[in-house]
Amino acid sequence: MIRLGRIASIGAAQPVMQGTEVIEANGGVLLPGLHDHHLHLASLAVSRESLACGPEACADGPALARALKRQAQTRPGAWIRGIGYHESVAGNIDAAWLDRQLPDTPVRIQHRGGRLWVFNSAAMERLEIAAADPLEKVDGQHTGRLYEGDAWLRKRMSSLRESRRPELAAVSRMLAGFGITALTDTTPQNGLEDLQWFQAEKEQGALLQDIRLMGNASLDGVRSMLPGVTVGEHKFHLLESDLPDLDAVAESIRQSHAVSRNVAFHCVTRAELVFALAAIREAGSRPGDRIEHASVTPPELMQDIATLGLTVVTQPVFVQQRGDQYLQDVAAEDQPWLYRLQGFLEAGVALAGSSDAPFGDSNPWKAMQAAVERSTASGQALGVEEALGPEQALALYTGPLSAPGQPVTALVEGMSADLCLLGCGWAEARRKLATVEVQLTLMRGQVVFP
Ligand SMILES: [Zn+2]
Repeated sequence: MIRLGRIASIGAAQPVMQGTEVIEANGGVLLPGLHDHHLHLASLAVSRESLACGPEACADGPALARALKRQAQTRPGAWIRGIGYHESVAGNIDAAWLDRQLPDTPVRIQHRGGRLWVFNSAAMERLEIAAADPLEKVDGQHTGRLYEGDAWLRKRMSSLRESRRPELAAVSRMLAGFGITALTDTTPQNGLEDLQWFQAEKEQGALLQDIRLMGNASLDGVRSMLPGVTVGEHKFHLLESDLPDLDAVAESIRQSHAVSRNVAFHCVTRAELVFALAAIREAGSRPGDRIEHASVTPPELMQDIATLGLTVVTQPVFVQQRGDQYLQDVAAEDQPWLYRLQGFLEAGVALAGSSDAPFGDSNPWKAMQAAVERSTASGQALGVEEALGPEQALALYTGPLSAPGQPVTALVEGMSADLCLLGCGWAEARRKLATVEVQLTLMRGQVVFP
């Protein structure tokens, strides 16, 4: 029984008070609402309005060219925003390649790693690109490529009034449809304006889930007064080819810690993880400090993560989604250490799951299946010794938002009624995680899905 947004009582033989709405579960299992501990909500909303340019959508260059031309016809003159590009489609594309497909429509395409944008000439014109701008140049000419320029691009687009905040309502409803009741937005650039925007979206009801907002140092010491919106970790985005000064990072960690704020490091390569661990060791770790992705974790670094008491937030679905690419691109000696799961649990490291949407599939049930199966899209095994049981996979998504990887809270009387009801019992669900259907999602006892 739910009363005033909380679980008032649990049991089969409860007397039903007059005026109580009775929901027949038909044998479906009632679970705590799921938590996606790492995603980029605004980017996810934007990506749903964008053109998919990855190998799954466009097999080769001509297919991508056709897709771009089709998109240009639907909204003539409007920006085309492509996402998910990978060089297996048409190589290391540049402005010249895009100009040959679409000379007049402004196009920008994001590499699926999220760190590279490619513009055509029409786009560079709209963005008023000048020699001093941070785009790549070869022989003094802009190639159309922008590396690590998200913050710059965002600023330029808003100063030219070429951008707008996306609508969150549809994407929030979609996540509620998976049973998700809480999210952590891990975008490193998040600052005060973003916090205010998320608060407004929450207040207006466009954002259904509770949200925890990681962000930059400007959020150190900031508290959100709005229920359901909290400020999370100071996020550091490392890039192996351009690592920052270690002492400066350590000092920045100390400053966040000094105001009781934890830190989180993006680590997708071995070198990035080595750097993050060195910086945290120098500053001193604080319980709740996080490593995001930990994509490559060899045994010696596993030991360091455990010793420092860090939490790891991983994305099990990448093994399924990108595993075939990893088997080609990642050195054989590193393959056993890719997106580990069981290895973290055995080392006593707090481990939680997430989507990294829009880069990973936002459906947590597919991720749970991937965690259990450890096989790539084409069916090749990848690190099967890292596989989890279905209950362990579910637990990755039900830990507290503020302490992912800590023991899962069972349904108990008095807890907030943030719940999801599946269309079948757990005995059946655990055998077909990827296709589990959520019947109902509740936030504070209110139906948010369907
Ligand atoms: Zn991310």
